Amino acid sequence: MDRIDTVVIGAGVVGLAVAKTLAEAGREVVIVEAERAIGQHASSRNSEVIHAGLYYPAGSLKAKLCVAGRDALYRYCAERAVPHRRLGKLIVASRRGQLAKLAALEKQALANGVDDIRRLSAAEARALEPALGCAAALLSPSTGIVDSHALMLALLGDAEAAGAQLALESPVEGGAVTADGIVLRVAGMELLADKVVNAAGLFAPDLARAIAGQPVDAVPKARYARGVYFSLQGLAPFSRLIYPLPEAGGLGSHLTLDLGGQARFGPDVEWVDGVNYHVDPARAAAFYHAVRAWWPQLPDGSLTPGYAGIRAKIAGPGEPDADFVIQGRAVHGAKGLVNLFGIESPGLTSCLAIAEETRARLLG
Ligand SMILES: Cc1cc2nc3c(=O)[nH]c(=O)nc-3n(C[C@H](O)[C@H](O)[C@H](O)COP(=O)(O)OP(=O)(O)OC[C@H]3O[C@@H](n4cnc5c(N)ncnc54)[C@H](O)[C@@H]3O)c2cc1C
Repeated sequence: MDRIDTVVIGAGVVGLAVAKTLAEAGREVVIVEAERAIGQHASSRNSEVIHAGLYYPAGSLKAKLCVAGRDALYRYCAERAVPHRRLGKLIVASRRGQLAKLAALEKQALANGVDDIRRLSAAEARALEPALGCAAALLSPSTGIVDSHALMLALLGDAEAAGAQLALESPVEGGAVTADGIVLRVAGMELLADKVVNAAGLFAPDLARAIAGQPVDAVPKARYARGVYFSLQGLAPFSRLIYPLPEAGGLGSHLTLDLGGQARFGPDVEWVDGVNYHVDPARAAAFYHAVRAWWPQLPDGSLTPGYAGIRAKIAGPGEPDADFVIQGRAVHGAKGLVNLFGIESPGLTSCLAIAEETRARLLG
């Protein structure tokens, strides 16, 4: 049986950031990925927003790792010439009845150390974005966008430069924690690893259950919240990202711009049982209604189906949002194993900070 120092399972943005961090710390790293290419799931099916860190409960891993990860990501993108832009965002209260929620969000942002946030009146918001209809807004100047594919390629390049290897079409089918290390069954073969990081995104809980030797009650149930996007035909009259107030299960269908200036709206929230990335054109009706709350002039017939992503949730509908879980030996008792559960948004923003936290849990 082949013996490897460290196996990272999953080549999404988080697995790649973990592999880079561990390889640069001097570990021998093999990344095993089920698909034929890197980043085929959440990491290429998201809004590509670098979040400032406004939303999350103070003291949570999401709040801490989003703020740290955002700064690390801006630095990394600048150093490695990963296309990105700090264009700022407006979070809008579309009617006066939402002003208390907007004030609560402002308070949360300040509690999380996001101290560049500014409250704008309707007139101040319209001076920045004349097409906007709102009662008031928050301006978050440190929110930005990033080319997630270029980011993953840069992370992979750095990991490989530090000696890591990537094995594609190598699904981990299961394994066991033994006294000698962690045995993994990968594409019908067995290998033995001293350390394993389970960065399998949506599939991380199911995979953890398939690796014997850790208590099953420490593994959360995977919950899938799908979100679809619609693209705007033509140019949007906005130069910043525009977000409504958050809704149950997500941040609200927002307007994001890609680095070419093309606009898309999404993601909505639909609880599903399996992985299906089809975009039903009929969902557009709800998008027209939601977007016109803050952009009344959205033209009829301007939305076309875009793409879908699935949030790797570990809390179901009606339950309070869960925090990121970076689970090590202190919880499951298995030496050398870290499970990453519930790495939904802001996981892209936080990838470098999650990687650093994982390194600390794994290597001390
Ligand atoms: C709709 C949506 C919008 C989002 N918007 C944002 C945003 O704007 N900003 C932000 O910061 N975050 C956002 N996120 C969150 C962000 O995309 C994720 O947190 C991040 O991409 C998670 O990366 P990952 O590497 O953990 O997971 P993934 O990208 O899903 O990667 C997991 C990898 O593991 C592989 N894998 C699974 N099982 C196995 C196995 N058994 N063996 C081998 N390989 C396996 C998969 O093939 C996959 O490549 C959004 C997410 C969604 C769904």
